[in-house]
Amino acid sequence: MAELSSSGAVRQLYGETPRGNLDPLVLRRLIGRACQDGRLGPVLALSVQLATALPLLAESAVTPCAREVLDACLAGEEVVAVAATDETAGSDLVGAKSAVALEGTEKLVLRGRKRWVTSALFARHALVLAKHRPGRHFTNFTWFLVPLAAAGVSVSPVDTTLFEGAGLGHLTFDGVEIAPEWVLGGFGRGLAMFSRHITVERLASATWAIHLCHTVISRTVRRLDDRQVDDLPLSRNPAVRQRLAGCLVQLHGLNALWERLRERIAVEHDAVAGALLKAASAATVDQVMTACSQFHGADGFRSGGVQQMRAEAAVFGIGGGATELMLDVVADHLPALLKELES
Ligand SMILES: Cc1cc2nc3c(=O)[nH]c(=O)nc-3n(C[C@H](O)[C@H](O)[C@H](O)COP(=O)(O)OP(=O)(O)OC[C@H]3O[C@@H](n4cnc5c(N)ncnc54)[C@H](O)[C@@H]3O)c2cc1C
Repeated sequence: MAELSSSGAVRQLYGETPRGNLDPLVLRRLIGRACQDGRLGPVLALSVQLATALPLLAESAVTPCAREVLDACLAGEEVVAVAATDETAGSDLVGAKSAVALEGTEKLVLRGRKRWVTSALFARHALVLAKHRPGRHFTNFTWFLVPLAAAGVSVSPVDTTLFEGAGLGHLTFDGVEIAPEWVLGGFGRGLAMFSRHITVERLASATWAIHLCHTVISRTVRRLDDRQVDDLPLSRNPAVRQRLAGCLVQLHGLNALWERLRERIAVEHDAVAGALLKAASAATVDQVMTACSQFHGADGFRSGGVQQMRAEAAVFGIGGGATELMLDVVADHLPALLKELES
């Protein structure tokens, strides 16, 4: 992140401030560059930061505290975590329990637990989505910018060997006193702000999916060219060729959808387009990772091999909204989406 900021890439992505819309082509270049490292963890951390944390902060950077944290992020000196997923099912965000309530007459206090938070282990602040009023209504949520060194906050690493470099952690808020300048974007706007920005994170996720599938297919083709069975490279075996071709067809389909929807998502924050693209990217990643990891044979299981990547890549169908939720959104808009295809 520090390297990206000092190279001016973050400013290129958003123009002068992340209040504007991001440029999907710059996003594609940045994610492509991050993917060269080969590990998924750092790309996950980068996607959340660029597509969700920075614009959420920028949209509400009216308090000096938010402005300061945003400037530190833009200078590459800080990373901010986005803590939405609660103790309860992440797929049922409105059922979350983390809440801010008045204690006494003036003291606002945060209690609750956020799970599986990317960058939690190296962030100095977290954007925390919490209820300021009980109940499942959309307007009961507010964002709070919480310093992770504040009294009552504890951070524990997620118990996993996957996603090295993502800084995954769980956050517990045990009576954290909320300063007025930590309230972001006004009370009641939490979910509206989140749904605008998580839509763009879904574009980032699809961008990453395209790079990942491209890399994995390319590596698999190289391996199969060098691997002989019956004196022929495996890449010339008819069943192998067809299965790889099927992966490439899926990948081209995803890329075409990305091209068609990128502006709608980046500029209009179109949630239906975001759901369509995310569902398509999860299906493509699943098909490509399943086929390619099979073709790596036993070597796929070495440390850091393609089987580990495949396990991590299952996050495309879960993180940032499970595939089933994306399909629900698509199902809600079937007539309109069908109409789009009429010539
Ligand atoms: C690597 C990683 C990084 C993450 N980073 C962050 C982060 O930075 N910030 C953050 O807030 N969260 C983060 N998350 C959490 C993520 O957003 C949640 O995992 C996700 O929203 C799903 O919630 P859950 O894990 O509680 O699964 P659940 O909600 O318990 O769902 C489990 C499964 O049930 C099925 N399901 C759920 N709902 C339905 C439905 N309506 N219809 C049919 N089937 C359904 C799906 O198959 C789903 O995968 C991260 C997760 C991972 C794995």
